[in-house]
Amino acid sequence: MKVIKDIKALQNISDYFRATIKTIGFVPTMGYLHDGHISLLQKARMDTEVVVASIFVNPTQFAPTEDFNQYPRDFLRDYHICRNYGVDYIFYPDAKSIYPEDFLTEVYVKEISDRLEGMFRPGHFVGVTTIVTKLINIVKPNIIYLGQKDAQQAIIIKKMCEDLNIDTEIKICPTVRERTGLAMSSRNLYLKDDEKMEASILYEALNEGKKMILDYKVVDVDSVKKYVENYILRKSKNIKLQYFAVTDNYLMNEIENLKNYRGEVVLSLAAYLGKTRLIDNILFNYNN
Ligand code: AMP
Repeated sequence: MKVIKDIKALQNISDYFRATIKTIGFVPTMGYLHDGHISLLQKARMDTEVVVASIFVNPTQFAPTEDFNQYPRDFLRDYHICRNYGVDYIFYPDAKSIYPEDFLTEVYVKEISDRLEGMFRPGHFVGVTTIVTKLINIVKPNIIYLGQKDAQQAIIIKKMCEDLNIDTEIKICPTVRERTGLAMSSRNLYLKDDEKMEASILYEALNEGKKMILDYKVVDVDSVKKYVENYILRKSKNIKLQYFAVTDNYLMNEIENLKNYRGEVVLSLAAYLGKTRLIDNILFNYNN
């Protein structure tokens, strides 16, 4: 396994593999790797001949009030994980080489970037789509592996690749969870053990919502929302729900009534537990 910091060096490596018809699988991350990231590395290892993981805590997707400085970083730990799971190249650039002083360009996927997560984190997705475009141009992957954990991010990146004719396949892999149901996240490091238990209520609440829709055949989304909000209020003193949404899985448009809806449904939410902001979602088919 090689660690590459230099953009041009990785582009040359990628050109070589592209020219020799070796498929490149790419897992972009912000590091502090956990089993969720590992599931993406494993999938890439199984599917493709060359596996590239990037580790870059991207400053432009954090608002000034957010946790960019506290975000956990441990390159040596990540290095060993990547090596154990068969990564061929780690791309580990400096912020200065990614964003030189005269950097001016932004990539913006309209509408989807401004709803749900985008409402509460203005500018976040522009930061994401801009860095992912840069990473794609550097790594030149045949396939990118993303987690369902960040459903809206995955949808936006898919739309960006579709709209800009970016010649990369996107594979979205299932959310990996703790035994309690809590979705794995680098930010779980901020939680104490009792908070981790409490945070698992979020996944329970999503499943309650799914049960309302699929088992109890509730079509009025407002009722589902009220039920889920109350469930969280009843079960936890400390969780502050920011939003709970019922959307499609293409543009994340909110569904008001499921009566005439058929297809994939995403239930997603964001909540604070103390100072830690958590997101989660579940995806299922609706053919009632
Ligand atoms: P991050 O390092 O948090 O930016 O995440 C890098 C990639 O890992 C993204 O595609 C995430 O959606 C994915 N990911 C993060 N947590 C999980 C998880 N619990 N299960 C599956 N994928 C995940």
